[in-house]
Amino acid sequence: MIRLIILGAPGSGKGSQCKWITRDYDVPHISTGDILRKNIADGTELGMKAKSFMDQGCLVPDELIIDLLKARLEEADCKEKGFLLDGFPRTISQAEALNEFLQAAGANIDKVINLHVPDEEIMSRALNRRTCTNGECKEIYNLRDNPPKVEGVCDKCGSPLFQRDDDNEETVSNRLNVYHNQTEPLIEYYTSKGVLATIVGQEDINDTIALVKAELAK
Ligand code: ADP
Ligand code: ZN
Repeated sequence: MIRLIILGAPGSGKGSQCKWITRDYDVPHISTGDILRKNIADGTELGMKAKSFMDQGCLVPDELIIDLLKARLEEADCKEKGFLLDGFPRTISQAEALNEFLQAAGANIDKVINLHVPDEEIMSRALNRRTCTNGECKEIYNLRDNPPKVEGVCDKCGSPLFQRDDDNEETVSNRLNVYHNQTEPLIEYYTSKGVLATIVGQEDINDTIALVKAELAK
């Protein structure tokens, strides 16, 4: 049982780290971005409300996301195994809501990994990012550093790749501003709780993985 949060600007590579952490630690990976995108794909009311915020790179309002997240944490797998939160919390009020929820359950966050990557690098990665359309696979490629063998096709499962609607220059730059203004205060919030560890994202993803591994083993 482990309760983790991974913090980092959009496009810092949180998703890639989450893939191995969730496997090695046998912990549910909870990405609020993925949950929202699924709601959009399914045409739910929540999805329809969230889409315009997401397309502009704005945060979805706290009242939409907090209940959604709490409902997810009430599910059996999280109660048994804990969680790895990816993309939540993104504001101080979300962090406070999570804190209250955990306290009521007598639980604590074990560690917050703060993945740091410079803005210029994030922009370049976002514009080159492609994702597998297969929901069971979700493999992530980068046309610059890690292209698929066949253009537009997933190496692992053969499904088509896609570029997320929100991976364009204007939206990414807006998302970075939102991150600096609304999410970065969480670094101090979790530092003061004594659970934050900052990892600097490396050029080679395997080097970043090694750093995060060492931190989680502490
Ligand atoms: P990235 O993969 O770039 O980090 P995400 O997939 O986490 O982005 O999120 C995509 C979009 O979904 C965000 O830009 C935001 O609009 C919305 N979103 C996801 N999580 C949250 C959250 N915790 N609070 C508010 N909005 C969120
Ligand atoms: Zn795939």
